[in-house]
Amino acid sequence: MIKRFLLGLGALGLAACSGEPAAQVDQAHTRPDVMFEADILAADLSQALRFRTISHPLDTRASWDEFQAFRAFLAERFPRIHAQLEPQDLGDGQMLFTWTGAQADLQPVVFLAHQDVVPIEPGTEDQWSYPPFDGTIAEGYVWGRGTMDMKGHLITLMHAIERHLENGTQPQRTLYLSLGPDEEVGGAGARRAAAYLDARGEQAWFALDEGGVTILDSPMTGRPAVMIGVAEKGYMTVQLTARARGGHSSVPPRDTAVSLLSQAIIAIEANPFEHSLQDGPTEAMIAALAPDMEGMAGFAASNLGLFGGLIEGELMKEDAGRALIGTSIAPTIVEGGVKDNVLPQEARAFINLRLHPRDTVESALAHLRNSVAHLDGVSIDPWQSPSNAPPVADFTGDAWQLIAGAAAGHAPEGTPIAPFMVTGATDVRAFADTADNLYRYAPMQAAMSDVSRIHGDDERIAIDSLPSMSAYFYTVIDIAVHRDHD
Ligand SMILES: [Zn+2]
Repeated sequence: MIKRFLLGLGALGLAACSGEPAAQVDQAHTRPDVMFEADILAADLSQALRFRTISHPLDTRASWDEFQAFRAFLAERFPRIHAQLEPQDLGDGQMLFTWTGAQADLQPVVFLAHQDVVPIEPGTEDQWSYPPFDGTIAEGYVWGRGTMDMKGHLITLMHAIERHLENGTQPQRTLYLSLGPDEEVGGAGARRAAAYLDARGEQAWFALDEGGVTILDSPMTGRPAVMIGVAEKGYMTVQLTARARGGHSSVPPRDTAVSLLSQAIIAIEANPFEHSLQDGPTEAMIAALAPDMEGMAGFAASNLGLFGGLIEGELMKEDAGRALIGTSIAPTIVEGGVKDNVLPQEARAFINLRLHPRDTVESALAHLRNSVAHLDGVSIDPWQSPSNAPPVADFTGDAWQLIAGAAAGHAPEGTPIAPFMVTGATDVRAFADTADNLYRYAPMQAAMSDVSRIHGDDERIAIDSLPSMSAYFYTVIDIAVHRDHD
């Protein structure tokens, strides 16, 4: 699910940006003594891709045999993890592994990956250079559905943990590994994993999942940038209802249900939510990228105190820019009326909001109701289960120093490390109340053109990228399980 946000960034034809120094990294962390073999990782990923672990929105067992076979492959390939980390199936193939630390008073850490992949859109099979479920290794890449999203992440992460076990690492802090079966269709598995930790009274220090990558050609700078998701948006749909007198359309009232509904939609759009660089990671993102921006954009981005307003103005011109700095309003469904000469008594619209962390379900609802307060007969109600944006993760303190410091250690010298807002959703949001900090970062290097292959044709991952992914995870785990953070 990492595609949407990254493409959103790609759509940002940003002329300028802003910035006070913020999300700095004090120290780059690596474990240069721990090497991973590209060929071995590529071969394992290739095999993993051959299991057609396609999740289905209505039937969690639709591809059950493929999932079972995939988990059997993991058990065979990662014997130490399966022997020592107490594998559990929390239901419908949601796997949870527990590596118990020596100090029970230290907060645990959680690593997430999902086993499932999205299907191949019917009729597009021929557009692949190599068959999507063959796991072909060619041209310096591993090809197939799930390479980037996210079996490459899963395999390199498990290799890192397996290596720790081989090396006899003795964790002080407990580590959980959660492998979801259904991220692409709602992530019920991840919610079970979070509930399991809650029931054990666990409050994790951080949880790490997919979401950002190291982009080789950032649309904001044209250069590499490590993008670590520290925030994501909340989700709410409201039902807007307009009621008026029904009857024959030959003698209509001044306001019909349909015209009231239209006025209400216009009133809502005329009263947008606050949009600003404040309250979220976007200001820090721009500040981090500023040194790599050229010309006026770089100058403005380096002087956010003076030019923050200018940069906000630039962001407001772009759909993806507005989405980064405020709650969005999208009317998606209108309905009402059954016959051309009958006045409907009721007309309805559905409006989808993506909540910026500064707004909550309650405050957004109040804002919308206020926008239509002058219209008699109009009401607004939340539809289904809205959710607030999870808390923004730390992007200055020690959890950030660990996640970002390891990324700095495995990226080319001088690559900026930027926190940012993920506009899509990932499994990790299920841990909003279970972990202090949610991070979204897959430590792979990818060009924007490769990012656009996610959920599309010719999804692939560079073989060269794989050893540094395992090395990144090895380093993060090494520091996390040893460090006395609390
Ligand atoms: Zn994914």
